[in-house]
Amino acid sequence: MNKLLKLRHTLHANPELSGNEYETAGRITDELARYKPDDIVDNLGGAGVMAVFKGAGSTADKHLLFRAELDAIAVEEETGASYASKNSGVMHACGHDGHMTIISGLAGQISKNRPENVNIYLLFQPAEETGQGASAVMGDERFSSINFDHAFALHNLPGFDENKIYVKSGAFASASAGVEISLKGAYSHAAYPEQGVNPAETVAALIQKIEQKLKPFKEAANLNKAVCTFIKMGEPAFGISPGSARLGYTIRSATDDSLQEGIETIKQVFEKGKKRFRGDAVLRIVEPFKATVNSKNGVDILKKAAQRCNVPVTDLDDAFPWSEDFGEFRNVCPITIFGLGAGIHHPPLHSERYDFNDSLIETGIQLFSALIKEYSS
Ligand SMILES: [Zn+2]
Ligand SMILES: [Zn+2]
Repeated sequence: MNKLLKLRHTLHANPELSGNEYETAGRITDELARYKPDDIVDNLGGAGVMAVFKGAGSTADKHLLFRAELDAIAVEEETGASYASKNSGVMHACGHDGHMTIISGLAGQISKNRPENVNIYLLFQPAEETGQGASAVMGDERFSSINFDHAFALHNLPGFDENKIYVKSGAFASASAGVEISLKGAYSHAAYPEQGVNPAETVAALIQKIEQKLKPFKEAANLNKAVCTFIKMGEPAFGISPGSARLGYTIRSATDDSLQEGIETIKQVFEKGKKRFRGDAVLRIVEPFKATVNSKNGVDILKKAAQRCNVPVTDLDDAFPWSEDFGEFRNVCPITIFGLGAGIHHPPLHSERYDFNDSLIETGIQLFSALIKEYSS
């Protein structure tokens, strides 16, 4: 456990942004190598790493995937921890350092006690926070050629009872997408606005219309959410008439179909609105996340595993409003992700005061080990 704590704190001190997690991946590879897996697949979908532990028996025909995330986010750490981030403006504020440590600890358990009939794959995926990593991993033949039976993952949950499980079959985390509208007109001297194409009026009209048209979408379900996340136009100067603008919306919903309806609503407003703009207008979808939909069977097996290690389980009534890249793995096999409570008063995810709760490491390892036992019995 001391070694694992040290690993967690080293990972925490050296966070890397989505898509750049190569040093982190190197540390994980070194750690995994100590447990002598049959194979370590590297550079999966970017910096991704996957350790392969074949079943001990000659008839091992099941394939289980366990996933952790490599990336950190762009937040300036204010935890005051002795192992605080050395990379200014980058921080493990989502607890992926803890998730990686749990899966590394699981590697240690498997190396000591390989299951007979189950092949285990421990994946450390890149770029979870931008929603790009999982699909990039799946695009690699070395991953997509494996017939996985099930994929499991956990996420720590501040604001929930420490070391308890929170789960839900069906939608667990929301689908979401960013919608970015870019307007390109022409700059001019503020004394000659008629010589330029200023996007201000179009921006104002778009926002007003989008808000109005999105109302039915927002009212249709609790988890249908749409929010204007940024408007960028001009500088705080009075001599220039700006010639470009960017506008961003984030849309969320518990289902992929309903998310699509929200996106279509914005697209329709955009198509009409751009006709009245004398410049170029482009709409693009960024950071799309599928809804994370849990398998009923997987949740049942998780509950049995939790019982094995005396961890209490609570069924959630609603999906979470945030999104998880893990939902993408539904393209290859059934998936189950659960929340592990980090404590009611624990600082929230993505905040500058957040630090992973180390007491979750042992529980996480035990739970994943118990899941493997469920599949090997
Ligand atoms: Zn996060
Ligand atoms: Zn996360």
